[in-house]
Amino acid sequence: MTGKAYIVGGGLAGLSAATHLASRGIAVDVIEGAGQAGGRCRSYFDAAMGGVIDNGNHLVLSGNHAVAAYLERIGAKDALVGPPHAEFSFVDFGNGGRWTLRPNEGPLPYWVASRSRRVPGTHTTDYFQYAPLMWAGAQTRVDAVVKERGLLWQRLMRPFLLAALNTAPEESSAKLSGALLRETLARGGSHYRPRIAHPTLAAAFIDPAVKYLEQRNGAVRLGTRLRGLTLGPREAMTLDIADATLPVGPRDVVILAVPPWAAADLIPGLTVPDDFRAIVNAHFKMPAPASFLQANGAPGMLGVIGGTAEWIFGFEDRISVTVSGADAIVDQDRETLATRIWADVARALDITAPMPAWQIVKEKRATFAATPQQDARRPGAQTGWRNLFLAGDWIQTGLPATIEGAVRSGATAAALAQAHLGL
Ligand SMILES: Cc1cc2nc3c(=O)[nH]c(=O)nc-3n(C[C@H](O)[C@H](O)[C@H](O)COP(=O)(O)OP(=O)(O)OC[C@H]3O[C@@H](n4cnc5c(N)ncnc54)[C@H](O)[C@@H]3O)c2cc1C
Repeated sequence: MTGKAYIVGGGLAGLSAATHLASRGIAVDVIEGAGQAGGRCRSYFDAAMGGVIDNGNHLVLSGNHAVAAYLERIGAKDALVGPPHAEFSFVDFGNGGRWTLRPNEGPLPYWVASRSRRVPGTHTTDYFQYAPLMWAGAQTRVDAVVKERGLLWQRLMRPFLLAALNTAPEESSAKLSGALLRETLARGGSHYRPRIAHPTLAAAFIDPAVKYLEQRNGAVRLGTRLRGLTLGPREAMTLDIADATLPVGPRDVVILAVPPWAAADLIPGLTVPDDFRAIVNAHFKMPAPASFLQANGAPGMLGVIGGTAEWIFGFEDRISVTVSGADAIVDQDRETLATRIWADVARALDITAPMPAWQIVKEKRATFAATPQQDARRPGAQTGWRNLFLAGDWIQTGLPATIEGAVRSGATAAALAQAHLGL
């Protein structure tokens, strides 16, 4: 008899694991506590906006190979849109400067030798000061490796690292920063073309995965929280959900793909990250100016230096703003935040109209803090119980908490589960 895989948590890590196993003919049963799948990467109907919005803008890069494989598997590879080449536009409120970075495609970064393609005011040699991050030790902070605090730091590297790590780059792990550089900037523009889910996160990452599982007789139980699990000396024995106890048979496996705090409650003695950083997203119900949309219809994207808004995304029906590492502002009242962020949007995009209908989405525990201390608390996918595996962006993936990390963690847990099942 073939075994069954219970996947607890229907975020990206859980869906990655589940679709991976289902693609190999293994029966999967996804147990998700919320009323919808997606976890921290979700879309929902918002009454204030009068339409479906994402909890936050999620950017992935063309070099995120696990994301590409996942989308290919679930039949959604065309649901990500973006420019044909890596291109990033910025405005600096400090001096009103505007520029667009135009990296070349290949790994030899000759774009940094071109004044018109690199960050204004920087020198070619500035860029190479970041290379040592790629071989930094696990205990090292970024500020111990990178001493450059000039225009390159202010206008590119700090915003880039803050967005990817969701943690003040100064205190962040040099190892995690180096992993990002190795997989993106160091490999050339073809590896960091920005990609955005269109029209929504759910349409790209979530709904096709649920459909994929259902088409393969997988169960996706929504609104079903795992309350506890019985752990024997070597194996997980039962899963306790609302009004049932599910036996974990000798040929079954369990993948726990819940956030770290939930995993720590379920598995005694598990060490997990316990310090988190916030993200604030502001959504405004106004079509982006036509000039801000890209030629191929993809959303426009603008980095803001010196504002509260950090990244502005322009869609055909809305303008959305992301503020990462937002702990200093997350407790401000929502109206104040909307007004403050709208002022930045209006200035950056030259909009004179009054603030339209808006929504503020606060995620206080958006990601674990990407510091060396927190990175050291990330467990591997295996546990002390041979049929129980962990997945999630907080598992030791070698990356900060990102979609790519979450999807990779699911693939790792699935491979271990498959090996355990002997399939
Ligand atoms: C606002 C915001 C913006 C972001 N922007 C980006 C970005 O631009 N690029 C990027 O790469 N990443 C971004 N991220 C990070 C990315 O969203 C996460 O890394 C990823 O979604 C994590 O997926 P996960 O499956 O590991 O965890 P989660 O999404 O947290 O999934 C865990 C699931 O487990 C469920 N669960 C919890 N407890 C139980 C229980 N007891 N029983 C059953 N189910 C349970 C939860 O409901 C949830 O669905 C962003 C995150 C946020 C919040």
